[in-house]
Amino acid sequence: MPDNELFIKKYSAMTGGISEAAANNIISILEEIRILKAKHNAVILSHFYMPPELQVDTKNGGVADFVGDSLGLSVEGTKTKADYIVFCGVKFMAETAVILNPEKTVLLPDHQAGCSLAESITGADVLKLKEQNPGVPVIAYINTYAETKAECDVCCTSRNAVKIAKSFESKKLIFIPDKFMGQNLATKFKTETDKELILWNGTCEVHEQFRSNIENMSQANPDAEILLHWEVPQETVKATLNFKKGIVGSTADILNYVEESEAKQFILGSECDLGATLKGMYPDKQFITPCIMCKHMKQISLLKTLQTLRSIGTSEENKYRVLVEKEIRDRAYVPIKKMLELS
Ligand code: SF4
Repeated sequence: MPDNELFIKKYSAMTGGISEAAANNIISILEEIRILKAKHNAVILSHFYMPPELQVDTKNGGVADFVGDSLGLSVEGTKTKADYIVFCGVKFMAETAVILNPEKTVLLPDHQAGCSLAESITGADVLKLKEQNPGVPVIAYINTYAETKAECDVCCTSRNAVKIAKSFESKKLIFIPDKFMGQNLATKFKTETDKELILWNGTCEVHEQFRSNIENMSQANPDAEILLHWEVPQETVKATLNFKKGIVGSTADILNYVEESEAKQFILGSECDLGATLKGMYPDKQFITPCIMCKHMKQISLLKTLQTLRSIGTSEENKYRVLVEKEIRDRAYVPIKKMLELS
């Protein structure tokens, strides 16, 4: 099947359909992106929270060379032979790609794509925490900026956080910056290890909103199973998963859970476009979600991705380029490398 037809098929499965006019508009952008990627030896790495048109991969006629979660994107970034990585995600993710690929040029289609978690803590805050808790290892969730990571012992993503925490002998660990994820992990540790977590007060402005909306949906759909991200408040986890089947975990855990579950209906407590990912993967299952979008992730669009590729080799390129100072890059590489070794 030609690329454009494949794309429409996958995109329609994710979104429930598309008009001819909208399809023609998207396809003309995709065609130019394909040409520019080949011309500049560029790859597109795209996060699961991107709009659906950026989540269709090249195998399905789209332009994303890889679609995944933070850990998958970090690992994939190290494998590519491309000269340019166009990062369709938020700034801390693009910084990680720079740290892992200092010889490549990493471009972010919009530098306004931030993150409430990454912005909640600085390297100076980590130094203070270390002073207050001498000798206690610091685990930084990947949702932190490079200058924060540079002060930490190891990074983790939502997928490998449990494994990484367990790898330390120390009973006490500092976990930054997401307090809800930290509380959910601490509950899990209580049943599996003797670890105690010292937490920071950061929250994800998207996942902290999954509260009574999820509980109401859960009550209204008694057969639905519950899918919650680690970053959702602990009260929501207790109010739903104490009564129903489901999971609290990483994006990868959520995808694996749906793959293995026989249920036909799920309630999703994670970013709205992960719902589109799931619909595209499992068209015979139903995903109900309050549809809360991350305004930072939504700064990135297909059109801005095209504009980024058009800028390559022009005076505009630096506007998109992500740079991390060498001294910070070298120090932030240590906890990221440790995470990849432990994953
Ligand atoms: S969804 Fe939350 S954690 Fe992810 S980028 Fe947006 S604000 Fe940050």
